[in-house]
Amino acid sequence: MRGLLIKFSALLILISNIAHAQTPASIVTYLANEGLLVERGDTKILIDPLFRINFGYYQLLPESMEDALFEGQPPFDGVDAIFISHHHADHFSAPDMMRLLSVRPDIKLYAPKQAAAAMRAFANEYDEIVFERVVPIELAYKDAPITLEMEGLLIEVVRIPHSGWPRRVTDVENLSYRVTLDGATTVLHMGDADPNDVHFARDADYWAKTHTHMAFPPIWFFDSPAGQDIVENRISPDHSVGVHVPVEVSDDPAKWPVQYRGFDLFTEPGQTRTILYKK
Ligand SMILES: [Zn+2]
Repeated sequence: MRGLLIKFSALLILISNIAHAQTPASIVTYLANEGLLVERGDTKILIDPLFRINFGYYQLLPESMEDALFEGQPPFDGVDAIFISHHHADHFSAPDMMRLLSVRPDIKLYAPKQAAAAMRAFANEYDEIVFERVVPIELAYKDAPITLEMEGLLIEVVRIPHSGWPRRVTDVENLSYRVTLDGATTVLHMGDADPNDVHFARDADYWAKTHTHMAFPPIWFFDSPAGQDIVENRISPDHSVGVHVPVEVSDDPAKWPVQYRGFDLFTEPGQTRTILYKK
């Protein structure tokens, strides 16, 4: 019996070691459309959190979440930085972001130059202090990726054209952010990236050099072979969750359109995923 107990406790230790290797690294919470909160302990970032327009087609931020965000209530307490992918109304609202940064003075904002410039229109002379926390990012198409740093965050940015390239909205500065929290958890947000490998092949080394734990491609990467190929072979994350999902897509995966089956999607505000360290 005793020998059995020892074997049993050895087994328990083994199990707990395995469990430790799979310790939850970070948690991501879905806001709406392409809006996300990523948390690793006290390190918290938001991406595309505030917008007003859904074209009657995408999720909007629920009022309760918006209130908590402005009040700095959990889970939005202690947010370190906000990232804006691009200056489109279903991702970014300049007056609301101006207001948020005014009432939450600990948050830093990283935004394409176009979005940062739009905020100026809603600022007065007293808001100059807000812009000390705004990092405007100016990247042209085909520019090499850049790296920025702040406490707890390694931020890599590259401009990927907006979907519709090369016919539509080529002037929109759409940024793809690869952010590493506490040197440990790496997530990738792509904005409304165009799913054409020509934009990714030129920076093949950039995409290969860092292991991404979780990627959040817009849903159209899942129903195009080229998009799937980019996610699998350029980004190669441990896991992907599609965002920019139309409201009409059910929160029951069994009811998803056939082209999305087998993928993972955020469909309802408040959904979460745990990011595990698998490698
Ligand atoms: Zn857009």
